[in-house]
Amino acid sequence: MLVNKHILASSSVHATPYYVVRGVNPGPVMLITSGVHGNETASMAAAQQLADDCIAGRHIIQRGLLIIIPRVHQQAYRKKIRGKPDLNRTFPRRISGKAKHPLASAVFHLARQYQPDWWLDLHEANGLSQLSSRVLGQTLITNPGSRAVPVCKRLIKQMNRSIANQDRHFNLKQHELPGSARTAGARLLQARTVTVETCWSLKRSVRIKYQRQIVHHFLREAGFM
Ligand SMILES: [Zn+2]
Repeated sequence: MLVNKHILASSSVHATPYYVVRGVNPGPVMLITSGVHGNETASMAAAQQLADDCIAGRHIIQRGLLIIIPRVHQQAYRKKIRGKPDLNRTFPRRISGKAKHPLASAVFHLARQYQPDWWLDLHEANGLSQLSSRVLGQTLITNPGSRAVPVCKRLIKQMNRSIANQDRHFNLKQHELPGSARTAGARLLQARTVTVETCWSLKRSVRIKYQRQIVHHFLREAGFM
């Protein structure tokens, strides 16, 4: 297993590290992004911990190639804000189209270069989806009819079995969101893209735990472990 650290958008104010983890054997490609919104810190911590675990050899990737961008929007992160404009509305909407933000452009180019089979975009949101269908906290989101749906359903069952408090159970949503990383990855790169949303009002350590568990389940389902 080999881990290399690189810098995305290196000669700009948006410069941010990313990690390329080569598994012991060849296999699928997964891109993990977090911090598209700069104030969603549990998802960023979970992604950084995965990168650190791979570097230290605590986490072994048996097969495939994993690309991790733990803190996409560094400027928004430093200001502890979501980011303006919303970076998750600036990804290309057509394969010939341009991203409306240099950072979205850099992320999308990296994705295009690696052609991921899977793209997990880690976020946090308000509310508990179990209590209201209008909120996104504790959900996995795919594009409608995505090939990722069966895996998401299995994964949600596994996650929910381990969560005693039913209010915190995860639900699946299928939603097209033009300009988002998820919809760009699904429609333009034919990747299985999933947005992971933990609920903001839970304790930070619990949110990090959920994010890490979900990523591990996806890695196992996709054949990385
Ligand atoms: Zn978000």
